[in-house]
Amino acid sequence: MAGRVAIIGAGPSGLAMLHAFERARAGGADVPELVCFEKQSDWGGLWNYTWRSGLDEHGDPCHGSMYRYLWSNGPKECLEFADYTFEEHFGRPIPSFPPRAVLEDYILGRAKKSGVRRHIQFDTAVRWVDHDATSDTFRLIIEDLGRGESREEEFDHVVVASGHFSVPNVPSYPGFEQFPGRILHSHDFRDSQEFAGKDLLVVGGSYSAEDIALQTKKYGARSVTISYRSAPMSFPWPDGIEELPQLDRVEGRTVHFVDGSSRDVDAIILCTGYRHHFPFMAGSLRLSTSNVLYPPNLYKGVFWVDNPKLMYLSMQDQFYTFTMFDAEAWYARDYVLDRITLPDRAEMEKDIAVWRAREDSLDGPSEQIDFQADHIEDLLAEVDYPAFDMALTREHFKTWEHHKTESIVGYRDQGFSSPCTGTPAPIHHTAWWEALDDSQATFLDQREKNPTA
Ligand code: FAD
Ligand code: NAP
Ligand code: MG
Repeated sequence: MAGRVAIIGAGPSGLAMLHAFERARAGGADVPELVCFEKQSDWGGLWNYTWRSGLDEHGDPCHGSMYRYLWSNGPKECLEFADYTFEEHFGRPIPSFPPRAVLEDYILGRAKKSGVRRHIQFDTAVRWVDHDATSDTFRLIIEDLGRGESREEEFDHVVVASGHFSVPNVPSYPGFEQFPGRILHSHDFRDSQEFAGKDLLVVGGSYSAEDIALQTKKYGARSVTISYRSAPMSFPWPDGIEELPQLDRVEGRTVHFVDGSSRDVDAIILCTGYRHHFPFMAGSLRLSTSNVLYPPNLYKGVFWVDNPKLMYLSMQDQFYTFTMFDAEAWYARDYVLDRITLPDRAEMEKDIAVWRAREDSLDGPSEQIDFQADHIEDLLAEVDYPAFDMALTREHFKTWEHHKTESIVGYRDQGFSSPCTGTPAPIHHTAWWEALDDSQATFLDQREKNPTA
């Protein structure tokens, strides 16, 4: 097939896109030229851990937001690749909540198997994307970061898979300028051991606040106070972690909350989320959204409604991750391969409006999980992605939510069954709250004894 497809980013989403095309090629399809641009020197996106924060080695904002000792926060059974199961990759069943390195190994295992690396140009950043109406092509300005050279290339389709948990949303509160300790965003957080013995303030009420509060306590922080803006998470926190309402101001090292309470702290970690930030997209092509389940202007959650030859992958807030990326990638692929025809613009807008209105009416995590599962099933209905038990993943997510409210330190000690093979996961040899070593070797070593068993 003639034509060229640009894929921006070689994280899990970009790799899903490349893999989807390789599956079609293996099935005999004529696939257009694929070029994936990745500004980092290796693949894996956020899962490619870096010690760097602030700027990267090229002077660009560092992409990485992951930190040491991060474990999966959802059951791995809810993100399993239906065409490359955990059992296939590891040769046996493994526990449900793997540490970062184990999930990275799994993601890269499929990418290696399908041989997609040859399409990726590393240390290469996309600096600008615009559209030329006359030729109906996209013009990309690309920078080879190693050589410091820029060039222009033309493409027929563009897939933006640059992630949206990398550019921090950084609020300020009165008194921050004079605070005598460190103030950092979770994007720059790397190692809990830095905070051993310290009293911490964690600002935020979502996954990063939850996990960084637990992590820092697990690795020896003296106390952690979490400050929520909208609603407390209200998990059964272990001793030494408490939740207070919104921060009002800071005086010296004393942090004051809107309910009149105060605490003395040594450091402040802002777990205040991320911004969808696409400075490399021309204004008319640039997605602008907060972290929602159905972003505006994307038909099927993927196609830029003004010009569907531009696609965005995985720009949704994420319960489902790799499963959703695959569903979106397969659908995008089939559009590029002319296997799927999209309706006219008015129809697309109507459809987006229905999903967005439904999102506005959702009440609580259970309905949100079903909403995202419905989005995935909507896509899977029209593509040849291998069958798996999607209904089971819905159940798993709801059970997981329940486990979290019962024990926030213990929910990762549960096991779930695979929606692809049906095999139940073994329970990890060491309770997560006790497991200080997050290496792949220790995680996979089933001779380890569980000290709490
Ligand atoms: P990313 O992983 O962000 O990859 C995007 C890639 O695009 C990067 O490699 C980047 O360098 C590249 N890129 C960006 N801009 C350009 C450009 N202009 N030119 C060239 N290349 C570019 N999900 C889970 O399923 N389980 C978890 O436990 C989990 N934990 C998480 C913990 C943290 C702290 C964070 C922030 C996220 C976590 N996630 C987790 C969610 C995460 O979003 C997904 O797992 C996944 O990494 C998203 O993949 P992606 O490819 O869309 O984006
Ligand atoms: P998020 O889910 O978007 O949450 C952002 C939080 O910041 C919200 O609670 C928001 O409060 C709060 N906030 C924003 N502005 C604020 C302000 N001015 N003052 C106080 N609070 C403010 O972002 P996230 O928690 O960073 O999670 C991002 C992704 O990373 C998720 O996909 C998550 O699963 C993943 N993650 C995974 C792990 C893991 O353990 N594997 C760990 C961390 C993160 P409101 O509710 O009031 O808006
Ligand atoms: Mg690395």
